[in-house]
Amino acid sequence: MSAHGTRTRAHPVIAIDGPAGSGKSTVSRALSERLGVDRLDTGAMYRAVAWAALERGIEPTDRSAVAELARALTIGIGERVEADGTDITEAIRGPRVSRAVSAVAANPEVRTVLVQRQRQWVAERGGGIVEGRDIGSVVFPHADVKIYLTASVDERARRRPEEGADAVARRDRLDSTRTASPLGVADGARVIDTTDRPVEDIVEEVVAWL
Ligand code: C5P
Repeated sequence: MSAHGTRTRAHPVIAIDGPAGSGKSTVSRALSERLGVDRLDTGAMYRAVAWAALERGIEPTDRSAVAELARALTIGIGERVEADGTDITEAIRGPRVSRAVSAVAANPEVRTVLVQRQRQWVAERGGGIVEGRDIGSVVFPHADVKIYLTASVDERARRRPEEGADAVARRDRLDSTRTASPLGVADGARVIDTTDRPVEDIVEEVVAWL
């Protein structure tokens, strides 16, 4: 059975998508604790490839060089994020990586490599909570629950002070308008506005859908 196929798994597959600052990490962490199910932050994987490209002086828009890099890079995602054994947990949240990551994520070959690893991650665990931009649409179109989180533009900018409102808006525009797996509400996804809503409230709403 494929990891995203019918339900003979130990855990549900929960897909969480949404733009920057919509609350994906907060909600998925809380859900992970509530359900005792592992969580995968796929944005950290794209950030790891962007970080590695910058480290090696590779242009983020150089498709073949970045794809080759993605294929060769060992990425570890857990409490900490590692690339080829280097701890990059803090480094990938910096403005340089945030500026470069959308170009890396628009590269279809990079997406093929990372999507395959994301499916593998879920297959190994028999389910999981997976957050990103294309999880409900492309990576797990048959997820048990699909959620699309949003929040007001002001609130999302407030949650990303180090990046800044203009950079957040630019990244969302690039992520929503690219050809390869653009950000959008997946078929069957439930839309939740997280502006002014306590996380516990959202978690209980999601749990009730399982
Ligand atoms: O979630 P986060 O903001 O860390 O994601 C960083 C970037 O990675 C996004 O702006 C997007 O370009 C890319 N991404 C993606 N598909 C995913 C997860 C993230 O394209 N599933």
